[in-house]
Formats: sequence, structure tokens, C-alpha cells
Amino acid sequence: MPSFPFLDAHTHAQFAAYDADRKEVIVRALQGGVRMMNVGTERDTSRRAVEVAEEYEDGVYAAVGLHPAHTSESFHDTDELGGGEKAHASVSRGEIFDHDYYRALAMHPKTVAIGECGLDYFHFNESESRELQIQKQKEVFIAQIDLAREVKKPLMIHCRDAFSDLIELLASRRLSAGKSMGDDGSLAASPGVIHFFSGTAEDAKKLLAFGFSFTFGGVITFPPRKGKNTGDYDEIIKMIPLDRILSETDAPYVAPVPYRGKRNEPLYVIEVVKKLAALKNISTEAMADAIAKNAKRIFGI
Ligand SMILES: [Zn+2]
Repeated sequence: MPSFPFLDAHTHAQFAAYDADRKEVIVRALQGGVRMMNVGTERDTSRRAVEVAEEYEDGVYAAVGLHPAHTSESFHDTDELGGGEKAHASVSRGEIFDHDYYRALAMHPKTVAIGECGLDYFHFNESESRELQIQKQKEVFIAQIDLAREVKKPLMIHCRDAFSDLIELLASRRLSAGKSMGDDGSLAASPGVIHFFSGTAEDAKKLLAFGFSFTFGGVITFPPRKGKNTGDYDEIIKMIPLDRILSETDAPYVAPVPYRGKRNEPLYVIEVVKKLAALKNISTEAMADAIAKNAKRIFGI
């Protein structure tokens, strides 16, 4: 039995939401058999992800990148960035992607992925045109695809309401590189994961063909909505092959049942793995083993 049978492949224990009890939260997960990847969303949370990973000999890794919502002016989330009550209604300014800054963090041995990066057409602000915000998101995403190739680490992709543009953009980068991502030797053997996948079965098929894997989180444990017999994610999880699925919490957000509504934390990923196992009709142990194998192949951990 490995010391860490479970993996939280996308979490944010470095966020301000854990400033009061970060160590307890992380140790609770590690002692419960959960390893974790703390994922950066902008300059400071990316640097913090690496710093937190450095504090633990084993089981805590980092991903560094610039989230699409932070490429333009965005709502200031105090759970993410801190700043207390005063900062609540304020906005954070859009960040310009600094290649050298992120490259230095990306080269760190505890950094196992580039992200979260991608496209988010759900969170637009009112002070700039949609077109400009989309253009900035695309430019910053392309810069991070190129960084991933440069440092040979996989992508941790965030995508919301933007799957057709995401697929088009990934396809064009494949073409411009002359070869498909993953087999040209310039990106890790697997191009990466789509975190918190919320696209359609068609989207999933295209992304599978590109070589991507998918992480699922707490929402998959929510009971079916009124008038429905199955959960929103049941069919897609049944469709995606076992060797392309990983588990995540996206903590502090979206805690799984039975913690729904509370602050989420990496230990709770076990509830997600149980649900994935039930949908795949295998034991929790077999599901956790499959996820561990996938993490080894994709992230080298
Ligand atoms: Zn996240």
C-alpha cells in the first residue's frame, strides 16, 4: 500500500482561505493518504504554490500559471488573494504574462504542470470589450502552451464556456508545430489535463484525440437535479477511458457531498474518488490506483 493512495490533482491550499490553518489542512490530507498539486492562478499564488511545495518532503507539488480570468480586470476574490473585508468589493487589475517570471517557477523540480491557463468566457468584466478580453486570454494561453513545450511539462487547463475556441486554438498550435502535441518530443508525453471538465461528449472526444486527460471534482457527487435520474457528469465520466481520468477538489471551492457548502480541502478528494469508482463500477482502491498511474504518466509523480 503506497503512503499516498489518493491524489488531489488540482487544489489551492496556498490560497488565502487557508492562511489561518494551512499546515493543519495539508498535514490532514497527507496523513489521510492524499497527495496534492497546488495550482497557481496569477503571479503571487503561483509563487506561493512553489513555496508551499518546498515545505514538504513528499506529497505536495505545484502548478504555475496565469488564469484567464486574471488577464483582464477581475473580481477580487479574498479566498484566493486575501486582503480581508476591505478588499471584498474591489477588483484586481489584469496581469501581463511575464515569461521569465513564470519560466523560473516552471523550472522548479516541484513544479509538475503549467496552469491553470486556458479560456474563460463566463467571467467577463464590463470595462473592456469582450473581443479585447478574448484576445488577451488567447495570447496569454498561447504563451503558456509555448512555455509548457519549452520546459517539457504538461498543461493544466481551465476552460469555461469556451470549448470550441479552446479546441480550435489547440489544433492550430498542433499544426503550427508541424506535429501533434505530445509526440514531437517538445511537450511531455501527455499534453496535460482539462481541469473540472464541463464540456460536451463531443468536446471530450476531440480533447481525448489530442491526448488530454480530465480531472473531476466535487460537483460529480451532487445528487441529480430535480426531474433527472442521473447526475450531470455521470454520462461523460462513463464515456472517458479509465486511463484519462483524475480526481481533484479545486479547494477551497465546491466541496463534495457530505461537506457541500463548507470550505473544501484536499482530504475531501476521497469522496470524489469514491464517486468516480461507483460510476466506473470498480472498487475505490482500483480507481485510486488508476489515478495514480495516470499521474505518473502525465506529471511524472
Ligand atoms: Zn482551480
